[in-house]
Amino acid sequence: MKHLILGNGPAGVVAAETLRKVAPADDILMVGYEDAPPYSRMAIPYLLEENIDEAGTYLRKDPGHFERLRIRQLRGRAVALDTVKRKVLFDDGHFEHYDRLLIATGSHPVRPPIPGVDLPEVQTCWTLADARAIAALAKPGARVLQLGAGFIGCIIMEALAKRGVQLTVVEMGDRMVPRMMTPKAGGMIKRWVEDKGIRVVTSAGVERIERGSDVGSDAPLVAGLSTGDRLECDLLIVAAGVAPNVGFLDATPVHVAKGVLVNDHMETSVPGIFAAGDVAEAPDLFTGAHLVSAIQPNAADQARIAATNMARDSVHESRLNGVLAINVLDTLGLISSSFGQWWGEKAEAGGSGVEMVDEGRYRYLSLQFKDDVLVGATSIGLTQHVGALRGLIHGQVRLGDWKERLLANPLAFVDAYVARSQQPMALAR
Ligand SMILES: Cc1cc2nc3c(=O)[nH]c(=O)nc-3n(C[C@H](O)[C@H](O)[C@H](O)COP(=O)(O)OP(=O)(O)OC[C@H]3O[C@@H](n4cnc5c(N)ncnc54)[C@H](O)[C@@H]3O)c2cc1C
Repeated sequence: MKHLILGNGPAGVVAAETLRKVAPADDILMVGYEDAPPYSRMAIPYLLEENIDEAGTYLRKDPGHFERLRIRQLRGRAVALDTVKRKVLFDDGHFEHYDRLLIATGSHPVRPPIPGVDLPEVQTCWTLADARAIAALAKPGARVLQLGAGFIGCIIMEALAKRGVQLTVVEMGDRMVPRMMTPKAGGMIKRWVEDKGIRVVTSAGVERIERGSDVGSDAPLVAGLSTGDRLECDLLIVAAGVAPNVGFLDATPVHVAKGVLVNDHMETSVPGIFAAGDVAEAPDLFTGAHLVSAIQPNAADQARIAATNMARDSVHESRLNGVLAINVLDTLGLISSSFGQWWGEKAEAGGSGVEMVDEGRYRYLSLQFKDDVLVGATSIGLTQHVGALRGLIHGQVRLGDWKERLLANPLAFVDAYVARSQQPMALAR
C-alpha cells in the first residue's frame, strides 16, 4: 500500500514515523516544498535570538533518519487532487498516485489587504526564509513595527526585544491576544509588555504602508495608522493570523470549512483521505463543533491517530477524544494560558464563572463552569500547577460541591483536582 503525505512539518513527520511502525512493509512518501529538511516553526524564536542555528530547528537531527526508516522524501507543492483516480498533481507537472493520502499542509500567514503590504521590508514570521529576512533587518536599534498581538505576535516579541530593536506593536483588538485571553488577562499582558519598554497601540490598525522616500522620510517605510499616527520603521512584521493551506482541494469532494473537516478518526469526507495538524478541523471536546487547534502537540497527536487509521487494514484503530483548545504563551517571561471555553458558557445554559485578579503581582485566574464541570480557564503567572487545570477540563471532571468551593476560592483548583480526579483513580486501583 502507498501512503502519500502532503506536508513535512510536525504532523507529516509524526505520521510518517507512526506509519512505519504500524505498517512496516508499506511505501511511504512525504512531500514538502520548503528549502530545508523537516523543521519546527516553534524553534524560530530561538533562531532569531541566536540561541540555535538553523540545524537546531530540524525536527530530526540525524541526516539519515528518514532514509533508515524507508520514508521517501520529495520536494514539491501539491496543486490539485483527483480523488477518483487517486492522484495528486505537483507544481512541476508530475503526478503521484496514492492508496491513502494524508493532508498535513499546515497553514500560511495572512497578509491583510493594506496598500504597501508587499514591500520588501514587510515580512511575516512563519518560515525559515521569513526568519532569515527578519534577522537581516532586525538589527540593534532598528525601528520595528509589529502588526498583530495574537499568539504568534506575542511569541516572537521576546526574540525581537533580545535583538535590541525598538519595537511598537499595533493590535486591532482592544487588548493583547484578544482571541485567547479574557479582557483582564489581555490588559495585564499589555501592561507587562509596556513595562519592558515596548510600545503597544490597541484598538488600532495599519491602514497603509508607504516607501519612506516617497513621503519625504529617510526611513525605509512609513506606516499610517487608523489613529492618524504615522510611524517610521525599518521593518514591519505582519502577525495578523493564519489560514489553512487548502487551495489544492478546490473542486474536490473533500469538505473544507476553514480547514479540512475530519471525523474522530481524522478521516475527511472522502474515504482513504485523512488530515492532521494546523490544516485540520476536528471535533471539539465539549461541543463537537469543528475546531482548528494550531499548536504543535495537537499536530503530533492528530498525526498519530490519522496514521494508525491509514494503516487500517491492520488491527489498529485510533480515535481522537475531541480537541481541547490549549494556548500557553510566554510573553517576555510572563507565562499565560487559556484552555477550552475560556470565554465562558451562557448563564441560561448552566454557565457560571469566577475571576481572581492580582494586578501588582501579575497573577490572574478565571474559571468557567457549565453546571459542575470546569469547561474553560485563563491564567497568568500560575506556572506550577496549570496541568491540574488542564486535567480538570480535559477529563470533564464532575466537581460536585467543589464547584462552590472554587467559586469562593479559585486558587483551590489543585486541591479540587486531587480530590475529584486523582483520588477516585487511586481508590479504584
Ligand atoms: C514563530 C512560531 C512560533 C510557534 N510557537 C509555537 C509554540 O510555542 N507552541 C506550539 O505548540 N506551537 C507553536 N507554533 C505553531 C506550530 O508551529 C504549528 O502548530 C505546527 O507547525 C503545525 O504543524 P503542521 O505539521 O500541521 O504544519 P506546518 O508545520 O506548517 O507544516 C506544514 C508543511 O506542509 C508544507 N506544505 C504546505 N502546503 C503544501 C503543498 N501544497 N504541498 C506540499 N507541501 C505543502 C509546508 O511547507 C510545511 O512544511 C509556532 C508557529 C510559529 C510560526
